[in-house]
Amino acid sequence: LPIVAVIGRPNVGKSALVNRLSGEQDAIVFDEPGITRDRTYRPAFWQDREFQIVDTGGLVFDDDTEFLPYIREQAQAALSEAIAAIFVVDGKLGLTAGDEEIASWLRTQNVPTVLVVNKCESENQGLAQAAEFWNLGLGEPFPISAIHGNGTGEMLEELIKHIPPVDEIEQEEEIRVAIIGRPNVGKSSLLNALTGESRAIVSPVSGTTRDAIDMVVRRGETTYRLIDTAGVRRKKNVDYGAEFFGINRAFKAIKRADVVLFVIDILDGVTEQDLKLAGRIIEEGRAAVIVANKWDAVEKDSHTIYEYQKMLDDRLFFMDWAERIFVSAMTGKRVDNILDLVDRAAEGHRKRVSTSVINEVIEEAVKWHSPPTSRQGKQGRIYYGTQVTVKPPSIALFVNDPKRLDDGYRRYMEKQFRQQLGFKGTPLRLFWRGKR
Ligand code: GDP
Repeated sequence: LPIVAVIGRPNVGKSALVNRLSGEQDAIVFDEPGITRDRTYRPAFWQDREFQIVDTGGLVFDDDTEFLPYIREQAQAALSEAIAAIFVVDGKLGLTAGDEEIASWLRTQNVPTVLVVNKCESENQGLAQAAEFWNLGLGEPFPISAIHGNGTGEMLEELIKHIPPVDEIEQEEEIRVAIIGRPNVGKSSLLNALTGESRAIVSPVSGTTRDAIDMVVRRGETTYRLIDTAGVRRKKNVDYGAEFFGINRAFKAIKRADVVLFVIDILDGVTEQDLKLAGRIIEEGRAAVIVANKWDAVEKDSHTIYEYQKMLDDRLFFMDWAERIFVSAMTGKRVDNILDLVDRAAEGHRKRVSTSVINEVIEEAVKWHSPPTSRQGKQGRIYYGTQVTVKPPSIALFVNDPKRLDDGYRRYMEKQFRQQLGFKGTPLRLFWRGKR
């Protein structure tokens, strides 16, 4: 569901508003700049629109409190995945410098914002109280009382202009899949095998650019959008130099995808061009499934599969999180299983883990293997971590000094997160942040 982020200084009544909109008026109102609060997603609806509402910590810009970067990070993260924002200000207190700072930050964020003036208990005075907030340059201020509920109808009316109706959202919740690989590895054959016959309902839809064609495939409850199938099908009997490879087109498709089907020709092994594509998949933070095609053409004995596995381990060691499958697009062998791996990778890619669980993993990991100590005898320390975004899952780790946590330790920590929390099929990003 689309996400609406609630932003504002401490004590303006953000939690009260979230409670009001999600119909949970008994929940505790807790609105301080704090370090332990997770972003919580509460369901809310208005008319035919459904959305999730997420409260962010109280935002302050002009202070040097130790954990402010964390709170701002949370607000930024909430906003970056939000379809709209509600900016709450305090009508009793009037316009403050803090509000102005938040407003000017919000104006750079490109997220439609509804400005809400809270604590306007009396409807007559409300409009007068709200008037001065026109100065924030965020359009009409809506006077409300989160506690009593007045004004929330008008405010929601404005908010839902930015939220698509439920039936349109369904379509957005599809898994976007790009079939990527060098020429002749078997992408078109694979596309045919995946979309052929009665195994799926297939319909071509137009992609983002003029000649891009996407293909929509349904299986069970899940919809897959195969991105830029025109690019996959393109004739390639003319030598266009680099363009022959269609690399720009491939890069664009990677960018649009959730999961990349990274197709290699197992007869050729992993070539330099394959490595280039793999690098791009990681840079873009896409989930991936390694599809080793033309398995039918490999002469096999009982060891063959292990030899090929080992070759892939060696050549694609930096992508060891990706699941792989040996298929034949020509005979159809194991093609049916590809989408199972896609499902798993998509799940890992959008997976969200709570701050408390992340910190349990950190605590346990540090117990087993403590961070290195510098020559001056100063030890690296991790204060806490939190997942800041999905697609790919990204975890910010707040530490005393990032320099003390060397590559070896960073890899160890990533491995711990993967072992304890899964994240199958997806890159995982760790951000190491020092005290500011
Ligand atoms: P694309 O350029 O990646 O789209 O590759 P194509 O799908 O056009 O396939 C290139 C060539 O490889 C064609 O001659 C296909 O018949 C052949 N091919 C594709 N998949 C397989 C496979 O699984 N096994 C074998 N033996 N040949 C394949």
